Amino acid sequence: ASSARRHLSTAQSLPPTYEKLFNKYTEVRRVLGKQRLTLAEKILYSHLHNVEESLLSNTDNGRSIRGKANLRLNPDRVNMQDASAQMALLQFMSCNLARPAIPASIHCDHLIVGYKGAEGDLEAGIQTNKEVFDFLESAARKYGMDFWPPGAGIIHQTVLENYALPGLMMLGTDSHSPNAGGLTTITIGVGGADAVEALVGAPWELKAPKILGVELTGKLNDWVSPKDVILRLAGELTVRGGTGSIIEYFGPGVDTLSLTGKSTICNMVRSLLLLSSYLAEVGATTSIFPYTESSARYLEATSRSQAVRNIETLQKFPGSGADKDAYFRFSADEGAEYDKVIRIDLSTLEPYINGPFTPDLAIPLSKFKETVKDQQWPEKLSAGLIGSCTNSSYEDMTRVESLLKQAAAAGLKPSADFYITPGSEQIRATLERDGTLETFEGAGGIVLSNACGPCIGQWKRKDGVEKGTANAILTSYNRNFRGRNDGNPDTMNFLASPEIVTAMAFAGSTTFNPMTDAIKTPDGKDFKFSAPHGLEGPSTPFESGNESLRVLSQEADASAQVAISPTSERLAFLDPFPPFPGSDLSGLRVLVKITGKCTTDTISAAGPWLKYKGHLPNISTNTLNTAINAETGEVNAAYDLDGSKHTIPDLGQLWKDRGQEWLVVAEHNYGEGSAREHAALQPRYLGARIVLVKSFARIHETNLKKQGVVPLTFENEADFDKIAAGDQVSTVGLYEMLQNGGKGTVQVKVTKDSGEEVLIPTKHAVTKDQAGFILAGSALNLLSKGL
Ligand code: SF4
Repeated sequence: ASSARRHLSTAQSLPPTYEKLFNKYTEVRRVLGKQRLTLAEKILYSHLHNVEESLLSNTDNGRSIRGKANLRLNPDRVNMQDASAQMALLQFMSCNLARPAIPASIHCDHLIVGYKGAEGDLEAGIQTNKEVFDFLESAARKYGMDFWPPGAGIIHQTVLENYALPGLMMLGTDSHSPNAGGLTTITIGVGGADAVEALVGAPWELKAPKILGVELTGKLNDWVSPKDVILRLAGELTVRGGTGSIIEYFGPGVDTLSLTGKSTICNMVRSLLLLSSYLAEVGATTSIFPYTESSARYLEATSRSQAVRNIETLQKFPGSGADKDAYFRFSADEGAEYDKVIRIDLSTLEPYINGPFTPDLAIPLSKFKETVKDQQWPEKLSAGLIGSCTNSSYEDMTRVESLLKQAAAAGLKPSADFYITPGSEQIRATLERDGTLETFEGAGGIVLSNACGPCIGQWKRKDGVEKGTANAILTSYNRNFRGRNDGNPDTMNFLASPEIVTAMAFAGSTTFNPMTDAIKTPDGKDFKFSAPHGLEGPSTPFESGNESLRVLSQEADASAQVAISPTSERLAFLDPFPPFPGSDLSGLRVLVKITGKCTTDTISAAGPWLKYKGHLPNISTNTLNTAINAETGEVNAAYDLDGSKHTIPDLGQLWKDRGQEWLVVAEHNYGEGSAREHAALQPRYLGARIVLVKSFARIHETNLKKQGVVPLTFENEADFDKIAAGDQVSTVGLYEMLQNGGKGTVQVKVTKDSGEEVLIPTKHAVTKDQAGFILAGSALNLLSKGL
């Protein structure tokens, strides 16, 4: 490191981020020698908290680290969207720190409903969610975080335009955070608790990912767009079982793509990896592209020319010695090995339409018509929606504009409703300046506010399609799970590129193929679209747009008050959980014994409950409310010690009020599904100390430990039958195990009403760090103490 610093001292003004990156990278090279590294590994390992500890102790010369070692990483920043930021900030506040250890930003995008158009929708959204936005803004002021007000843009677009930078590592509290991988930034989508760990300055843990290489050759043809690369890959990965991991693109085809095209491809990685069971094992994943000339052009267009110069300096600069490995290059080393390689020839790719209800059902456009007919899907297209964080780039929008102009010249208007969601105020204002928005509006398109809207179910449809009515829509978004867009489980939602969505909206038909078919014009002629064309970026830098929609960026202000009304139903301050008692647990009772699947959705349901994400007491009233009682077969039923029947959350609350701590008993894969932190927070809040099951989903098991709940599994599954609801439970060996940093065995002593005692042996996977979390009451209690 010192030799690197010496070299750096002669370099002209590398910013601290790159100086740090360079120093760490030099250390990585020193430890790994001549091992060839992929781009993702270079960036990831250059963010290790302790390079030697992570790489040397886990590796045979580094080779075996993937999929095995636990990396302790120091991310450069955290980005949060408004829905998930609430609990993240509440947890951060409970640590009593003056400011976060790393820069952070908050983006108000998920809570605005798309209906009639930007202005009115934004106003209505602000009205409905005022207390949440006020809270987020006041917390941003107090802790010196960047605050992007409602209407400023969608998190991933705003991050790409402002914060993403080649070589950085970021965490985002949203699953499409990998979008920034287009600009060579490792960005991982995480839950609020993980984000807070990074905010308090603790190293963030990640299992060293496997690296899946995607080699791109050739060049995209007319009508084919970067979106089709990921739509096709979605189908392919599913066929091959979707390995999950970091997906890294390489090959000559990469140089032919625009920066925003690369981001579109990265954006959707989570959508497809969510389909893979591997994700549940790995816990985090992302996607990355090398730095190319189009990356430099994008940085220039977004007023970041200095970054381009810094990158040039960094890449020219030798580390220790003149070995070419010592240079930091934003691409993989020649000869770097991937765990698996998929090859895509861009020249042979055709447009895809994926869906309905799953992003991996990839259907080539040429086969879509016959598939619609075979499957008897609706032939009428009800709506076409373009934009969102995935596809609202200047290139996307100007390609669409070229189609709209052709259609207008032929006297055509879209036959289906046509909506446009700009990803940010910057892109919206630039499109307005350059006349593109006028073209959209001229075609009868409805420009929605710069927010998520219909992509996340915040869509009030104007066409009167009722819940339960089968209909087809086409979007350029990134997910299409059932009910995702309008809450109607019978809306068949297909994904395609913005240009395909647009052309098909003109036909109003799902069987139309714009590459081959014609539409009748009002005067009876056949009109055929020519291939779309657009501009990669504006000819002059992007506009910054409406002043009131710009970022509020400020130093931390300790005197600022965080706005939470004591009568709020949506927000409540969090009290830190109390530490573990100085002895084994005793006097616990089994609240309920659960049978069958128990996912994080069973433990903390989503849907209408999302509204209470920032109010732990209120959202806790849904705890386990779809769980099946193993003893009675009833859903959401639990029995108090006097035999009275309650809902599970009601009994939990009753026991909490009574000071009666409890445990739940369940079967296999407890906590599978999304990594929802509320599924650990809620039981803890209501008084759970232990969860005793046949097996856990790994991420949820970790989340429980982070919130101070002890996850135990039956050593003998048959012992599940020896414990019943209402039984009294104490632990034997738990306190000692925790004090010994996770070493030792734990038994559960069950006392029946009859006085009979049963000793049940259990297993645990508590590590030294996690033992510390549990003893402190939660990971945050411990981590914030260490600062
Ligand atoms: Fe998520 Fe859709 Fe919003 Fe993008 S636009 S951040 S995918 S909800």
